[in-house]
Amino acid sequence: MIFGNGIDAQEIDAVAKIAERRPRFIDVILTPAEKVIYNDKKGKHRDEFLAGRFSAKEAYSKALGTGIGAAVSWQDLEILPNEAGQPVIVKHPKLDQLIAHISISHTGNAVHSSVILEQIEDLGQVVSIHRPAWIEISQQALQHNVNYIRELTNAKRFFAVVKANAYGHGMRPIVTAALAAGVDGFAVATMDEGLWLRNYGVDLPIMVLGVTPAEDASILAEYALIPVVTSKSWLEAAKEALQSADCLTVWAAVDTGMGRIGFRDAEALEEALTFIEEQSQFRLHSIGMHFATADSENVAYFEKQLQRWQTILADLNLADTVLLHVANSGTALWHEQPSTDLIRVGAGMYGFDPSQGALKQRELEPVLSLKTELVHVKQVPAGESISYGATYTTQTTEWIGTLPIGYADGYARALQGMRGLLPDGRSVEVVGRIAMDQLMVRLPGEVPVGTVVTLIGQVTNETITLGDLADRMATIPYEIATSLSARLPRYLVD
Ligand SMILES: *Cc1c(COP(=O)(O)O)cnc(C)c1O
Repeated sequence: MIFGNGIDAQEIDAVAKIAERRPRFIDVILTPAEKVIYNDKKGKHRDEFLAGRFSAKEAYSKALGTGIGAAVSWQDLEILPNEAGQPVIVKHPKLDQLIAHISISHTGNAVHSSVILEQIEDLGQVVSIHRPAWIEISQQALQHNVNYIRELTNAKRFFAVVKANAYGHGMRPIVTAALAAGVDGFAVATMDEGLWLRNYGVDLPIMVLGVTPAEDASILAEYALIPVVTSKSWLEAAKEALQSADCLTVWAAVDTGMGRIGFRDAEALEEALTFIEEQSQFRLHSIGMHFATADSENVAYFEKQLQRWQTILADLNLADTVLLHVANSGTALWHEQPSTDLIRVGAGMYGFDPSQGALKQRELEPVLSLKTELVHVKQVPAGESISYGATYTTQTTEWIGTLPIGYADGYARALQGMRGLLPDGRSVEVVGRIAMDQLMVRLPGEVPVGTVVTLIGQVTNETITLGDLADRMATIPYEIATSLSARLPRYLVD
């Protein structure tokens, strides 16, 4: 994805004149390595080289969005010719995150340059599109779940939790579907996930649920991300890191028994809130807590957390603008809301039952399907083995199909023996060991190559859920979903 682009133009004569009047200018603009090349050149070529570096460095700083200054200085940037003589940015401050494409051209007395900064993740990862194994995301199902949970809770604001690549569903389709469903904000676990959303064009509020290092406060402010505050010392360190013009909106976490992050007593919370109020660089967005057992039949611990929450909040003198939020999916689906300001919902939006069937069933629809196509079909006589370790041997003459998906895609080895569904609803069984990129299924008869096999999802009246896979692996659906690898393309459907 493109992070930014910048263009610049300079008059070669004008730049050369500055260098003539102030020789130190050359040492300001050029790094020592660049200066070696500069000194090797003569006359016009020399002036072109200096003006080109000057212009390209300006273009870089514009692409970054900061201009030459605190975030990037002349000496931070080094542009050297490659073997073909073309300029390459060999050194820049975002080398680990962004790849810089650069071009410099001269016409007459003018030098033009342009810099495009591209996010490295997208380049580092093999793009998967031409692949008969994929994930489908149902926009209609997600919209249904959002509307359903909104109605059930009466929540004024629905924040879609999209941490961990949207619970493995894929950021792009889920964010697109969530925006179409009219969510009011997003919540992520890390600052990088928040930056991804901003770069994707999201301009709704974004809460960061996990603790961000305070040194990154200035980036949080620049991208209007709402980090969590869990101590006064975090605020003090963040203040150090902020530029004087920055304004950072934060939310405060209260730990009422999750035992993870947050203020555990009223005094410490109050002290932090006073600090926020007194410092012009901070604003308070909200105060929240997280339940540990909202999806359990036993409500005793839930009640205890709720009680603590109410005690801690009782004496605070909060402005009306400060939102209160306590609800994850379990709370939203099965408990009365002590506050309807805002809910933070992940599981329910994706259609999972966080109680794994323990609590009253809610009308949620699964959002994700995992599909693949037969790439090879053969008839095998009795007594032949299939896959690594020769752990499966055909009992009679069998039709065996090969699917181009394996444990590297998140279809774990332990899923040997699971079912897949043919388009008419008939089942196939995964036989033999699941390999890294392929697995075999026993077919009910001859089935053409290219036939779609659904590994998670609904076909006719038959359904295989993330929960079914989770049961077989003795884990929870979240772990199955978040293991689905980036190698599987994700498509938004209906
Ligand atoms: C992950 C998370 C949520 C979302 O939880 P679900 O049960 O998936 O809805 C909400 N709040 C916090 C603090 C979280 O970490």
